[in-house]
Amino acid sequence: MSIWYTEKHTPHAGITMEVRKSIYHGESKFQTLDILDTFEFGRMLLLDGVVMLTERDEFVYHEMLAHVPLNTHPSPAKVLVIGGGDGGTVREVLKHPEVAEVTLVEIDPMVVEASMEHLPGLSEGLKDPRTRIVYDDGVRFVSEAQPGSYDVILVDSTDPVGPAEALFAEDFFRNCSKALGPDGIFVSQSESPFFHLPFMVETYKLVEGIYPQAAFYLASVPTYPSGTWSFLMGVRDGSLPLTRCRDHEKLATKYYNRQVHLASFQLPRFLKEALSG
Ligand code: SAM
Repeated sequence: MSIWYTEKHTPHAGITMEVRKSIYHGESKFQTLDILDTFEFGRMLLLDGVVMLTERDEFVYHEMLAHVPLNTHPSPAKVLVIGGGDGGTVREVLKHPEVAEVTLVEIDPMVVEASMEHLPGLSEGLKDPRTRIVYDDGVRFVSEAQPGSYDVILVDSTDPVGPAEALFAEDFFRNCSKALGPDGIFVSQSESPFFHLPFMVETYKLVEGIYPQAAFYLASVPTYPSGTWSFLMGVRDGSLPLTRCRDHEKLATKYYNRQVHLASFQLPRFLKEALSG
């Protein structure tokens, strides 16, 4: 007998893959968590039945979320990651020698515990001496942060529902701007242009109204809805060029490089037209 996992992206479309076995199931006051062993994508982490990552393609998302802002910022020393309890984003942030400390604010300890036990390739950085884990709501944490505390803030959250919904609100974007230094950079995962275009346009306009520079960049993540995923960047320094990036030839990556970094800001016509509408 074969077992298949299906995630519906809309009532009429989704992704399905064959599963060898369930590795872990947990329930917290925030969500359910499953780790499945799949034939095609290795181990897969689900929250409330939604794909968060797979071992096979997580490197794309985590490298692009971390290295584009970190190589755009002139000297990122203090980084804040909101969400990201699996550790993938922290793993990538720690590849930058300039980073002195990374604070991970994850609302659900169950995610960190399950990743440490069953996803060692992702969670390796959570034990790094430069990493500080705080179990809290990122909305509240940022609202109480001292002004200018961070050089880069990365939001690696679930979709904008439940506890993550407020991570896409104007107050949160404003509080992140206050918590950043004068050349600070904010990036949030910002959903799919194919399935969430109105949401992306609305969120872009909020960020554009708060940060002197705002821009989307894209990457291809096969197991995310439609396979095209977006990241929304807000830059506090209006003169910081987004067409340059520090060259980290020695950065150990599988997807990210300087050419991909620069090309990722080139947007398809339908998205550009939606943003200029
Ligand atoms: N890469 C995934 C994606 O793009 O869908 C996200 C992965 S990570 C597992 C998402 C994390 O955000 C979850 O661990 C969830 O508990 C956390 N989260 C959701 N809302 C949060 C909040 N308000 N504060 C802190 N963490 C939050």
